[in-house]
Amino acid sequence: MSEGERKETPEGRIEELRKKIHYHNYRYYVLNEPEVSDAEYDRLFKALEELEAKYPELITLDSPTQRVGAKPLTEFGTYEHSIPMLSLNSVTTASEVREFDKRVKRTLGSEEEIEYVVEPKIDGLAMELVYRNGVFHVGSTRGDGKTGENITQNLRTVKTIPLRILSNARPLPLLEVRGEVFMPVGKFKELNTELGRRGLKMFANPRNAAAGSVRQLDPRVTAARPLDFFTYGLGLLEGKEFSTHWDILEYLRKIGFKVSPLVRRFNALEDVIKYHEDVNARRDELDYEIDGIVMKVNSIAQQDRLGTISRSPRWAIAYKFPAREEFTRVNDIVVQVGRTGALTPVAVLEPVQIGGVIVSRATLHNEDELQRKEVRIGDTVVVERAGDVIPEVVSVIKSKRTGAEREFKMPDRCPVCGAAVLKEGPVVRCIGVSCSAQLKERIKHFASLRAMNIEGLGEKVIEQLVDKKAVSDAADLFFLTRRDLLKLERMGDKSARNLLKAIEKSKKTTFSRFSYALGTRHVGAHTASLLADNFRDLESLRNASYDDLVLILDIGPEVAKSVLLFFEQESTNELLDKLKRAGVWYDKTEKVAEEEMVLAGKTFVFSGLISMSREDAKSVVERLGGKVAASVSKKTDYVVAGAEAGSKLEKAVQLGVKVIDEQEFRAIVKA
Ligand code: NAD
Repeated sequence: MSEGERKETPEGRIEELRKKIHYHNYRYYVLNEPEVSDAEYDRLFKALEELEAKYPELITLDSPTQRVGAKPLTEFGTYEHSIPMLSLNSVTTASEVREFDKRVKRTLGSEEEIEYVVEPKIDGLAMELVYRNGVFHVGSTRGDGKTGENITQNLRTVKTIPLRILSNARPLPLLEVRGEVFMPVGKFKELNTELGRRGLKMFANPRNAAAGSVRQLDPRVTAARPLDFFTYGLGLLEGKEFSTHWDILEYLRKIGFKVSPLVRRFNALEDVIKYHEDVNARRDELDYEIDGIVMKVNSIAQQDRLGTISRSPRWAIAYKFPAREEFTRVNDIVVQVGRTGALTPVAVLEPVQIGGVIVSRATLHNEDELQRKEVRIGDTVVVERAGDVIPEVVSVIKSKRTGAEREFKMPDRCPVCGAAVLKEGPVVRCIGVSCSAQLKERIKHFASLRAMNIEGLGEKVIEQLVDKKAVSDAADLFFLTRRDLLKLERMGDKSARNLLKAIEKSKKTTFSRFSYALGTRHVGAHTASLLADNFRDLESLRNASYDDLVLILDIGPEVAKSVLLFFEQESTNELLDKLKRAGVWYDKTEKVAEEEMVLAGKTFVFSGLISMSREDAKSVVERLGGKVAASVSKKTDYVVAGAEAGSKLEKAVQLGVKVIDEQEFRAIVKA
């Protein structure tokens, strides 16, 4: 059989997958330098599991599906765990969680009460801390589950690992505490900035940073790294017994360990699923990375009856969140010119799916960031897309470099208008007064949903209007004629008439929308509504002093200075006069009239993707008196389901909550 033919047989495919997984395990667990994303790794692992399930006779003991982690590095002394440190079986959908629950009930008998404890799944590294007579004795990594690395000296430097147990009673002769070492996200960013500044290798994510820090040969380096520790369980212990996992966590908390404050216990499976959604929605509020939740059968007696399989216990499962990170290639780096003239380097990526969305561009922020991260054209990079935030390039996988990568230099002229650029701190700005790129961005902002909300005035139309010189500022929009519009590509008579109608309609607006639409630097939608609440109309805002402005809660010196500077400009006054002449008019009473609060008392939940950002959709609902919630309950009035709507949609159907699509939503809110 030729090599090619062999790869096509189940044996060949299994061997190929094992080889790849072993290689990635080594890079991830031993070198802390993964070359593929966790999502990609999980796909390989699943493919192997599926093949092995189909051909059980091909399972061997050295298969990655039968083992945990990787063999420890020999530089450290080794440590044999008294009870193996296992991994967790992981799932990604609510129906797999229901399957797990069914399996548990099948084994324990359907009559039995089952309580689950749920915890955030900390994305760090598993550690075991052995305490003898209350004193920290040995600390080790999970290693391959049986044998870990003895890194006691390093773990002694982690401030949240107690060196001595807090207890009034006599300490236990032996206590093995298990938990996760991690690096807080904010501290990780600081560390990466510092490493980049010193030209040292940066870490792909907080987990790798924690792994790289805790496994240093010199404990002084570990001591300087901001590591933290959460506990979630026990190994062997002498002198005490527990009947539930919950009691173990309480005990650990009492004797001085950090236990996640997000730990809960539930009887109903649906509450576990809701907890997963809630924690996922709050993921960005936490200063540590979590990649899912862990659900565990609470009763220790039940855990014992369920037992374990080779790699994982049968009484616990990891219910993961959608991935937010992928690895991909930078095909090019281009420069975008924003509304304020800032030149932003943007990576053009080999398109990649992240959490169900195709990402083909990611920001590199500015020149300093670009240099710090050393991103080159052709590099393999880690891209992160968190919630509604613009995708960003986090770091480069230097081990993937071939030498063919090209460096990128920021241009010293504006790539759009050719004017000179000025460096203000890390930001390079085009100083061209009539830069068409800036004008396009300003008009896009002016017409956007939260500003003047001109329906039908999309990006393509704006670009043509500017390129054909039909508009030279935002006010010109109100002087456009049908004939101007008909000159544009793909603009029929009907669309032209509708667009003119929409432009006309937008003239009647609110003061906060109007002040936001002007696009003053540092004045976002929230600040604009603060200004509107405090000044009521343009005249009083124009006459405001620095003190008047900074006296407003939430308005700082930078915003105040920017507002003053904006109104000092001759060009601002010209624009405002022109808008007045065009008949733009705002309601001084500002608030939407009572009778227009059509959504008062209504709760919306969004699931999946719609063309509006979540923030915009939320502000539309709130303006009309409604509320937006993160998860579906009986109190939800509408679930707006976009593409790839997931478990929230499932839940809505279960509870009989009304499900609408984007079009219906837009009809309700008239957006
Ligand atoms: P895992 O990290 O998915 O889950 C098991 C681990 O979760 C436990 O060992 C424990 O350390 C941790 N954990 C966190 N919070 C916990 C809690 N509250 N209770 C119990 N445990 C908790 O499994 P794993 O076997 O450590 O690693 C496999 C995963 O690692 C893969 O799914 C993949 O995401 C990643 N990986 C990636 C690569 C790569 O090349 N990118 C290579 C190998 C592994």
